[in-house]
Amino acid sequence: MSDQVPATDTPAATLPPNLSRDTFDRLDRLVTHAEARTETRDVEAPFTGNVVSAVPECAPDDVELAFERARSAQTDWADRDAEARAAVAKRLHDAVLDNREALVDVVQLESGKSRAHAYEEVLDVAATARYYGYRAADLLESERRRGMVPGLIRAEVHHHPVGVVGIISPWNYPLTLSISDAIPALLAGNAVVCKPAEQTPYTALFARHLLRKAGLPEDLFQVVTGEGASLGPALVEESDYVCFTGSTATGREVAAAAGRNLVDCSLELGGKNPLLVLPDADLDRAVKGAIGACFTNAGQLCISVERCYVHESLYEEFTERFVEATEALTLGPGYDFEHAVGSLVSADQLEKVQAHVADARERGATVHCGGQARPDLGPYFYEPTVLTDLPADADAACEETFGPVVSVTPVDSTTEAVERANDSEYGLNASVWTENEDLGRAVARDIDCGTVNVNDAYAASWASIDAPMGGMDDSGVGRRHGPEGLMRFTEAQTVAVQRLALGDPVGVGSALEAKTLSAALRLWKRIPFLR
Ligand code: NAD
Repeated sequence: MSDQVPATDTPAATLPPNLSRDTFDRLDRLVTHAEARTETRDVEAPFTGNVVSAVPECAPDDVELAFERARSAQTDWADRDAEARAAVAKRLHDAVLDNREALVDVVQLESGKSRAHAYEEVLDVAATARYYGYRAADLLESERRRGMVPGLIRAEVHHHPVGVVGIISPWNYPLTLSISDAIPALLAGNAVVCKPAEQTPYTALFARHLLRKAGLPEDLFQVVTGEGASLGPALVEESDYVCFTGSTATGREVAAAAGRNLVDCSLELGGKNPLLVLPDADLDRAVKGAIGACFTNAGQLCISVERCYVHESLYEEFTERFVEATEALTLGPGYDFEHAVGSLVSADQLEKVQAHVADARERGATVHCGGQARPDLGPYFYEPTVLTDLPADADAACEETFGPVVSVTPVDSTTEAVERANDSEYGLNASVWTENEDLGRAVARDIDCGTVNVNDAYAASWASIDAPMGGMDDSGVGRRHGPEGLMRFTEAQTVAVQRLALGDPVGVGSALEAKTLSAALRLWKRIPFLR
């Protein structure tokens, strides 16, 4: 057993093939600021409900200590050459791929997702490490900007690290969301303190282990394990920048606390993502795409689709084929590729999914397939479910279900499809299916979402790491990925040098000066190279 004593006497989970009890002992010891802490929190394996192991139950004091250690390590790290920092990400890329089987095991063990869906996280983190490993140093270089009077005033911009970045992450993509934002934060010269979700701390600790293997100095990436409601506010209090991924409700609290400290933050929040099937869509592709869009990670994916709007000319055929393809999905536990879809993460999540489907039934929706929990497979399994005739005010129509439940609705035009898609408080991701790429791109621009995929569910935009990713409206603030995903972790500093002893160059001490400068500005606008 692990060093940490489980808090209950629930049976221990059987470990997947690439993990041993020793692994958990080693990972527990990576909560380095809480060595003396004796309280622990059990981590559950959703496939069975059994206990994986127990991590330290950190307190706000531990968060303070983690920040202290991170802060003292950050100064030397920031002094290093950006290329030297980037080398860690290049090595991390290899370490993640070399350790992929054990990593996928940990992700599956504590999240209950299928192996294929867990694998996506490993590939995503490797790709993110590669992207920032090769791009960060260039993006962080100081740049010349045009001075007020070119030639007379020299202006340059430097990109300084903010200090210590606090990362709060959810359980649904525990590897991607605890480390993919940490990579650019670290490469920008910051330290990071990460608070993973209660359900999935071991994945974040495994990430810490791999970062150290890749050469990251000891204290630069800290992990605090324990309850969000107690550790989250303490982490926000200490952070120089807060990177939060989770629900919209918690995101609002985080933003308010960051605002009180005048600390910047990015908030990657919930979604109620639409999929539009236009009249000329290729139905084979659209049905296959909708399956991935709706049921990846049993629908517990912020960018997964929960609403399909299908042109009436294709509605019946689409629905029939979509239901057939949904029924063909294999559901079950296992550390191999046998099952397409895994478990929900917890009893809470199962309860929410059941409540949404019960509400839909009560309001007259038709359940074409699924609609049942599957305790015979594991405590939190729920069948992929397709609804039609769902009233617009049903919970499953307007609130995020975050489970394998999707509604299909006919629309009489592309205009109506776009209107319905935009009729939501969220604005995270959308998917548009059409054979006309130009039309698809035009329709995409009318949809109020931070990412829109044409003839793809979500991977096209998410995996284009050079492009920003994030939500509009209640889906969030700020962007990850791309240059934006790196530069948010920096403070821009402008240094301007006055080369002639002009005094104050825009000094307006008299009516004559005011008149002269106004005339100069009029002239200035006419000279192209000065505009
Ligand atoms: P959650 O908001 O309950 O928890 C997220 C994190 O916040 C956890 O680490 C939790 O411990 C912590 N937390 C809890 N209370 C806190 C507080 N008062 N202050 C600070 N932190 C606190 O969300 P969840 O249920 O873990 O995750 C599911 C949600 O995350 C869904 O809404 C999903 O759409 C969203 N999500 C969004 C993205 C994105 O990129 N937009 C990605 C993944 C998940």
